[in-house]
Parts: sequence; structure tokens; C-alpha cells
Amino acid sequence: AKIQHAELSPKTKQFLDTPPRMLIGNEWVKSLSNKTFDTVNPADGKVILQIPLADKRDIDAAVVAARHAFKTTWKDGVSPTQRAELLWDLARLMERDLQVFMELETLDNGKPLSKSKYDVLGAINHLKYYAGWVTKINGSTVPVGSNKLVYTKKEALGVVGLIVPWNFPLMISMWKLAPALACGNCCILKPSELTPLSALYLGHLIIEAGFPAGVVNIVTGEGSPAGEAICHHMDVDMVSFTGSTVVGRKIMEAAAQSNLKKISLELGGKSPNVIFDDADLEKVFENLQWSSFYNTGQECTLGSRIYVQQSIFDKTVANLKEKAEKMTMGNGFDDHDLGPMISEKQLSNVMDYIDSGKKEGAVLVCGGKRIFANLRDGYFLEPTIFTSQSDGLRIVKEEIFGPVVVILPFNDFDDAILKANNSSYGLAAAVWTQDLSKAHNFANKVDAGTVWVNGYDLFDAAVPFGGFKQSGNGKEMGVNAIDQFTKEKAVWIVL
Ligand code: NAD
Repeated sequence: AKIQHAELSPKTKQFLDTPPRMLIGNEWVKSLSNKTFDTVNPADGKVILQIPLADKRDIDAAVVAARHAFKTTWKDGVSPTQRAELLWDLARLMERDLQVFMELETLDNGKPLSKSKYDVLGAINHLKYYAGWVTKINGSTVPVGSNKLVYTKKEALGVVGLIVPWNFPLMISMWKLAPALACGNCCILKPSELTPLSALYLGHLIIEAGFPAGVVNIVTGEGSPAGEAICHHMDVDMVSFTGSTVVGRKIMEAAAQSNLKKISLELGGKSPNVIFDDADLEKVFENLQWSSFYNTGQECTLGSRIYVQQSIFDKTVANLKEKAEKMTMGNGFDDHDLGPMISEKQLSNVMDYIDSGKKEGAVLVCGGKRIFANLRDGYFLEPTIFTSQSDGLRIVKEEIFGPVVVILPFNDFDDAILKANNSSYGLAAAVWTQDLSKAHNFANKVDAGTVWVNGYDLFDAAVPFGGFKQSGNGKEMGVNAIDQFTKEKAVWIVL
């Protein structure tokens, strides 16, 4: 069923009925070029709204507003207690408008409504976690002898650019916004051009919560020129980026070519999900379809390389095939297991990978086709499973970012580690075994920023998250994000 505006809550309708604007200095503004771009519902290919298309001049205006706010109010004029209060107020407003966020996220990204709810609640938890941090960002004293006193203090960086992808639009915005604000920075948030709605709605609540003008600016536009302008800007102190490794490289170059701004990169992945024959297979089989296809595979931590010990290989392939074929797909408002892919372009990229898998000799176990029938207007792709004996294929090496996994066999522990680490990425890894020392040895030896033992995709605002190797150089969540969004100053006093 296609969503009719009549089915949306009155607040969502009201938001969608008002022409969208960007938030700069607490004013809702058009882009200076007066240009717009379409945001599209991926479940039916229909345009939802026309969104302001920011260019360099809009970014300049946002940076001026943010710098002004930082100098005049946010840095010294608002105490940590008041800052914490603002974050708590924002969290309460988000709870009040949970339904609106869920609807906007499902409309714009396509994900099932229950999964949108999970994301919005995750974003709110994040905000509350960092609201608690605001009053606890301490420096230290350092012993250097009796005739000197040295203390350190953690200071806000100033103006920070927060650049976000489309797969978890609100949640990843909040992974950045909450700690950045907690630390006392002024922010320029740029959601993905494919999913700008939830960030724009958040802007209304930021004003309602009473944040001073310019503390949070929300600009909508494409990677080029809007994202680039943030990264090249001489008066932006840091860019926190989540997105593809290709763009991550450009951001590092932009920082090098401009003011050597600090950067935090959370990039792609090709995570190994390793199943030993001594695992509790019932638990594995409950989980495997979700670690393989959650969010229609559009997930940076997706367990897209499934390594299975030889003796349970056939059984595992058969089980995942059966589960994958039963997963339901459709409009997120009908709350299926899986929604559409984000765009026609992303769908076609993934179809190219499926073709390359077939050409390079992988065995297609199930899926592999775009779904037409009653879903022909949306970007729906069947959950797809390949098996392969070789690690050398593109579908094993490259991030596909769609509902496509490859299952490969391994012999023993050393073989499993060798294969798991045979990747340019190192975002996450999982191991399934009932042998405690095997699990710890795996966690020790695997090159990944997060390791799950007998589970998958576990997250908490308190636990650091960030990749190794070409999955990036940043850490979000936990105290680590406080370190990312502050600079530490040492003060020497001669006594
Ligand atoms: P993307 O890199 O294409 O875009 C991400 C954001 O960067 C968007 O807002 C885009 O407008 C902007 N952008 C594009 N070009 C830019 C440029 N030259 N300068 C500045 N900004 C620019 O990524 P995507 O397609 O939106 O998201 C998918 C990717 O994100 C995948 O590779 C996925 O693995 C990764 N991802 C990583 C994590 C993580 O935490 N490590 C989480 C989610 C997604």
C-alpha cells in the first residue's frame, strides 16, 4: 500500500505542507541560489519535497553564524549546566515527536516503521548520554615537581562540520551532534541529500528547545559543492564525517589543502561474520538473516563476508537461504522485514556487483533480482546469497552496500583469522563459538574496531565505535567522542 498523506500524523503533514528551508542562525532560509533538489520516497519513486540546494555561499553564511554564536554566547555565555539542560530539553521534545521522526525517516529512507522507531530511540538515548557528560568534561593536574603546577583543560574546538550518510539519517546525525554540542561546539550539520527530512525537522525542535541562534545550523545539499565547501573552509575547525571511503579520502585531502582541520572519518566496511562448528547453531540461525540483510544490507557493519567452518557449511547455507526467501519486503509503512534500497542508482550499483559475482564464478544461491510485481515503482532487491571458494572476487573484497552476502568455507582457527583479516577494511567482526578461549583469541587477532562474540550489531552510546584500516580513523560514542570534539590545553604555573 502506498502511503497517503492522510495516514500521516497531523504534525508530519504540517511539516510536509510547509516549504522546507535550511536553518542558519535560527532563521529558516532558502538557498542563496534559490535552487532546490528533490527528495524521493524510495518505496515508490515519488518526489516528497523540494529541498534547498546549498552552495558555497550558504555554507559561508552558516559558518559565519556558527562562529558568531561560538564567540558571543556558546563558548562563555552558557554554563555547562545550562548546556546540559538544553540537551535534555531537546531529548524530551524528540520523545514527544517520536512518531513524526519515525514517519519522516520511513518516508525518506524507506526503512520499516519499527526500524525507524529503533533508530529514533537510539538517537534520543545518545542525546541523553551526552547530556550527562556536559558537566563532567574534566581536565587533569600533572605532577612535574614541587615548584610548578600544571593543569590541563578540555576546550571546545569551535565550529564543527558534521557530514552524514543516508542509511541511518537521524541516528548518525545524533552520534555527532550530541557530543559536539555537549563539548560546547557550534555545528553545521549536513544530512545526506537523499535523506534530509529528519534533520530539518530536528531543526524545529532545536529552536523550540531554546538553543541560541547559530549554535546548530542545518544545511541541505550535495557532496559537491556543499559538503566540499564545509571541508575546505578555513574557519571550520573540524569535520566529523560518516560515509564512503572514497569520499573520506577527499575529506582528508581537503583538510590538508585548507587549514589542517581535525577530521574524524567513519567509513565503509566488509565485516567478517565467522561461524565455528562448535557454535550454538540455533542462535546463529536466529541471527544470521539480520546480520546479513538488516536495513536492506545498507549498513556499514553488515556481516557481508560469512566464513563458515567446513563441516557446517552446507547446513548454514541452506538455513540462510530458507530464511532469506521468507523475508518480506515492501513499503516501510506496512512494516515488512525489509524496505527498498535508497535509490535507483544504488540499486543499479548493487546489480552490477551481482553480475560481477556471477561472472567471477561465485555460485548464486538465491535472490539476485530486482523485485517488480507490485513494487515496481520502488527500488526493491531480493536478499541475495552467493557462495564462493575464493577470497579474490570483487564481491568478497569490495563493499557492496546492499542485501548481498557471500558465504565462504574455512578449515580451522588460523585459516579463519587469515581470511577474516584479508580485507582493506576493519570496521567490525563477529565470531560464533562456545569455546571461550577461541572467542578471546579471535577477538585478539582480528583487525576490527568492534568485535561481537555470539551476537551481531550490538551498540550502546557508552561503547566506543570506529573502524581500523580503511574503515576510518575516528571513534564515536563513549568518552572517545568527547576527546574527538575537544582540544586539550596544558597550563604551566611557576610557583
Ligand atoms: P557518501 O560518502 O556518498 O556520502 C556521505 C555524505 O558525504 C553525504 O552527506 C554526502 O553529501 C557527503 N559528501 C559526498 N561527497 C562529498 C565531498 N566531496 N566532500 C564532503 N562531503 C561529501 O556515503 P553514502 O552513500 O551517503 O553512505 C554510504 C557509505 O557510508 C558506505 O560506504 C557506508 O559504509 C558508510 N557508513 C559508515 C558508517 C560508519 O560508522 N563507519 C556508518 C554508516 C555508513
